[in-house]
Amino acid sequence: MARYIFVTGGVVSSLGKGLSSASLAYLLQSRGFKVRLRKLDPYLNVDPGTMSPFQHGEVFVTDDGAETDLDLGHYERFSGISAKKSDNVTTGKIYSDILKKEREGLYLGKTVQVIPHVTNQIKDFIKKDITNEDFVICEIGGTVGDIESLPFLEAIRQFSIDIGIKNALFIHLTLVPYMKASDEIKTKPTQHSVKELRALGIQPNIIICRCEQPIPSEHRKKISLFCNVAIDNVIETIDVKTIYEAPISFSNEKLDQQVLNHFKIKSKKKPNLIPWKKITRTVLGSKQSVNIAIIGKYVNLKDAYKSLDEALTHGGIKNNLKIKIIRIESDNLKASEIKKKLLGVHGVLIPGGFGRRGTEGKIAAIRYARVNKIPFLGICFGMQMAVIEFARNILKIKNASSSEISKNGVPVVGLINEWEKDGRVHKGTDKNLGGTMRLGLYPAKLKENSLIKKIYNSKIIHERHRHRYEVNINFLEKFEEKKMIFSGVSPDNKLPEAVEYKNHPWFIGVQFHPEFKSRPLAPHPLFSSFIAAAKKYK
Ligand code: GLN
Repeated sequence: MARYIFVTGGVVSSLGKGLSSASLAYLLQSRGFKVRLRKLDPYLNVDPGTMSPFQHGEVFVTDDGAETDLDLGHYERFSGISAKKSDNVTTGKIYSDILKKEREGLYLGKTVQVIPHVTNQIKDFIKKDITNEDFVICEIGGTVGDIESLPFLEAIRQFSIDIGIKNALFIHLTLVPYMKASDEIKTKPTQHSVKELRALGIQPNIIICRCEQPIPSEHRKKISLFCNVAIDNVIETIDVKTIYEAPISFSNEKLDQQVLNHFKIKSKKKPNLIPWKKITRTVLGSKQSVNIAIIGKYVNLKDAYKSLDEALTHGGIKNNLKIKIIRIESDNLKASEIKKKLLGVHGVLIPGGFGRRGTEGKIAAIRYARVNKIPFLGICFGMQMAVIEFARNILKIKNASSSEISKNGVPVVGLINEWEKDGRVHKGTDKNLGGTMRLGLYPAKLKENSLIKKIYNSKIIHERHRHRYEVNINFLEKFEEKKMIFSGVSPDNKLPEAVEYKNHPWFIGVQFHPEFKSRPLAPHPLFSSFIAAAKKYK
């Protein structure tokens, strides 16, 4: 039977619950256990798909087409396990399912209430789709004390009783601030946060203390005493220089060992930390670097392109290089300033995006990269913009555009009318925005003699998608005449999946998101090749 580990956070948000959960998953997995990671988000959106990256950071897409919290990206990158639709839920989704059932009369005349109906729905989610896992790690989003997380905390409290308290473990992650002026570490916020949790009936078994300084033993004792947690279960996590150090640091603090002790499980196998040590050395120690420009609308928010930043770093690891990311805001980016902005840049990347704002700046930058033979990678919207640039400047279709950004232009990129998946035809729409894109894993055929086929070393690839618009396949001949090759297409030849420009050393656009599948221990070939090209360009 699976054991459940619940991870909550206290004092402040953004303490790194996701990274802690993902590191713990790696450590347990590396000891030979089967682990599953899940995230329960208390907000009211049904999923983060319709939220702006400014609000929520990147939307992470799973193989099976769920638009999820970016923490699932951490989970995948650290544990190597592909997340599923059933690994992320929100209050919005819980309520929408309950209200649907209520309308269908499935509650048989009962008054529908937070307890037991909402809590039951949460509990059903927690145990859904679990087969032979040894551990299920469930992270509760938000911070203890938030009104909206109450039903989730109540549900996990009940759940631990339902499965038998010895099969559940509560980890609470808190901040232990260091006060510079008095040169002191403060445990009071942690005490208050745990008090709050205990008032809800949850006694944490392990407390992970995020701090800038090592926590002296007298402070650990204090936390242990006031929070009613064994001293060995007060675990510190000091800010690491790179996130790849996190599994090493948690292992040094014996987090995985304490988890096993709690469940009275013996494991002789020690976690393998060698790959993380190697990566940490490369990331911190490489002498050489390349500068990669990311040009997009959300560059001011660090988390908006999380998987992309990670995938570039992985490409750097593969090439033994440090990656310096130069973030360029595409709004108000004038063609005249591009040369200056791209000075010293060794690769240009246009990421996914939505809407008209900032598109002209992106198109101008693509032109500059194409003409000056700077390695270029366009992802999703980035590929669509590359195609529009080429249509305007090489094919001389002056008002070439996408129907997403202009109703009057020539729609070289247009709304996908329909696509096929698992024997069913899906229809594109731009009316109802939630969950209606072409989402998740789709196959693509790669052309013989194309650069992309060489990079993947495969005729067929499977990559994750998240888009509503598509390059119009009817333009294929016109583009290919001028050496912009549609080097990847859907198996039915209807949807262009990748383009590349033959008169350029490295110019590739892809309709999918390769960044979601890149992992530090298995860098994605497209990013490795892009970074290698940037190194060569340098
Ligand atoms: N907005 C574009 C579309 O819907 C691109 C989406 C993206 O870049 N993820 O097709």
